Amino acid sequence: MNQKMNYKKAGEVSNWLFVSSVAAIGGTFFFSGWIQLALLIIGVGLIAGGIAVRQIYWRCPHCKKKLKLGFRQEPKICPYCRGQLISKDEEE
Ligand SMILES: [Zn+2]
Repeated sequence: MNQKMNYKKAGEVSNWLFVSSVAAIGGTFFFSGWIQLALLIIGVGLIAGGIAVRQIYWRCPHCKKKLKLGFRQEPKICPYCRGQLISKDEEE
């Protein structure tokens, strides 16, 4: 990964972390013993990682204020400075 971390990337990464954590914790129902425990620890770790990524990087690129922790809807305009959050240049 040589792309720089921006809020959009952070949103994607944290979403993937949350999805993986749900998969890991869901997997605990199918296993027992140490595998179950390992999956639980991984799941909790992934949630913590997802929250950490959001806390650190999920910010407005203009005013650097933290954005709301929306899981599905991406804000298009910053509620603080009304800066455009999704620009077409960033999309590839
Ligand atoms: Zn802003």
